[in-house]
Amino acid sequence: MSFVQLPESVNTCRNLVGGEWLVPRDASLLDVHSPYTGGVIGRVPLTPAEGVAQAVEAARAAAPGWRATPLRERTTLMARFRHLLESNLERLSHLAASEAGKTVAEARAGLLKGLEVCDFALSLQNLDTGGAMEVSRGISCEFRREPLGVVAGITPFNFPAMVPLWMFPIAVTVGNAFILKPSEKVPLTACAMGELMVEAGIPRGVFSVVHGGRETVEALVAHPDVRAVGFVGSSAVARRVYAEGSAQGKRVLALGGAKNHLIVVPDADEALTAQSVVDSFTGCAGQRCMAASVLLAVGDVQRIVEQVRERASRLELGPGMGALIDRASLTRLETAIAAAERAGARVLLDGRGKKPAGEKWAAGNWLGPTILDGVRPDMEAAQRELFGPVLSIVRVPTLSAALEVENASPYGNAASIFTTNGAVAQAVVEGARVGMVGVNVGVPVPREPFSFGGTGESKFGHGDITGPSSLGFWTDLKKVTRKWTTRTDGSWMS
Ligand code: NAD
Repeated sequence: MSFVQLPESVNTCRNLVGGEWLVPRDASLLDVHSPYTGGVIGRVPLTPAEGVAQAVEAARAAAPGWRATPLRERTTLMARFRHLLESNLERLSHLAASEAGKTVAEARAGLLKGLEVCDFALSLQNLDTGGAMEVSRGISCEFRREPLGVVAGITPFNFPAMVPLWMFPIAVTVGNAFILKPSEKVPLTACAMGELMVEAGIPRGVFSVVHGGRETVEALVAHPDVRAVGFVGSSAVARRVYAEGSAQGKRVLALGGAKNHLIVVPDADEALTAQSVVDSFTGCAGQRCMAASVLLAVGDVQRIVEQVRERASRLELGPGMGALIDRASLTRLETAIAAAERAGARVLLDGRGKKPAGEKWAAGNWLGPTILDGVRPDMEAAQRELFGPVLSIVRVPTLSAALEVENASPYGNAASIFTTNGAVAQAVVEGARVGMVGVNVGVPVPREPFSFGGTGESKFGHGDITGPSSLGFWTDLKKVTRKWTTRTDGSWMS
């Protein structure tokens, strides 16, 4: 395992608009800090409404030509992008890691998942062949999938490559002009992917990058020419983007936050369970929407809890577990740990004050793995998304009590059961109120084409963000009914 390589120079990110890289007029600039060191590694413009309108206009101008380009030709171009993405895997992994605080291995895994979504998009030319049928004498009906026009994707800090890649390879391949608004905390990877789209030969305006924060998002969501908005981020913002976009008649799919439960029963395989729990709550320093947050310990699973504590205590900060995105996150988590202690939880493992050796990393946003035991379901540590490497253990007497706690959560992204008993596993598969369930899997992210998406307050809108159901989001189905016939034996339908 090795440390991340940070960018060698500090550059100002530009918007990609109509095929040109430019800094929008009247934009203020924000410093981009590396979570590893706290140092400035780039600057990002906050695009005002006028700059957003310019990007939408360029996308609108490009949309008809791209829509008229046959799917096979669009696919050939996106295959070049996929190839470039793979050839630049190492460089992009270090870039994403340096701005998001991930380990390089985690950043690489995110890119590999993104490649998988590209593969799904590239397969559409052979799989998504529509349908046609003679429905009556001399009459045929046909489905045609048609792009919407200008669409936008707004993405969070924690997956600088993967979450944009959930959206634009599919949205662009099916014929839309796509505008990416990456998180202002991680704009560098988005620019690098934009450069690869340009290198792949994407026509001007078909793929745009517009940087910024709240004001930029609001301008995109309000713009009448943006037909659909894909959003991934916290539930509070997801709910707002969904409400504002829907009120204007747009199509919106807004994925939000999570509070994921891992249920562990006494017959679970000890080593597999302990390793999976640790990987799940410490991976990406707990900053992923699929991270384990609450361990529902059913009955006597003390040996597994001890193994979880022991394995987590051995993780090496830096190469083995990354940093938190910013100081505000670190403060929020330290405050939440102290509050849980005051409310009666026992700190089994305390990550506060831990950091990697070496002056270079001293000002990074570090928190070691932290385990709170004896958390009650009504405590903040059991209910609120903390988004850090903190595991709350809630002790429950039975599987039904565990499911009751899980079902009471307003979120609905993921839950997992650790057991060697098929009937117990099935009860959780059926009973958990989530979009994604794992059996002996700590991070139950479905592989493509089994699409990604939660339920409850983890998702506002219909369908999933990847896989077959995403096609209904980024396109319209046009139904064609035809009569070309000289037959005279028609029926009422003819
Ligand atoms: P965030 O909600 O702060 O930001 C997400 C995006 O919204 C960013 O592009 C940001 O610029 C923009 N934004 C922020 N505040 C806004 C506002 N008030 N109005 C309009 N736009 C605004 O989320 P984050 O901190 O970047 O990411 C972490 C969150 O994302 C966590 O809650 C995590 O669970 C969630 N997440 C969910 C999924 C999922 O698939 N459900 C995946 C990844 C992350």
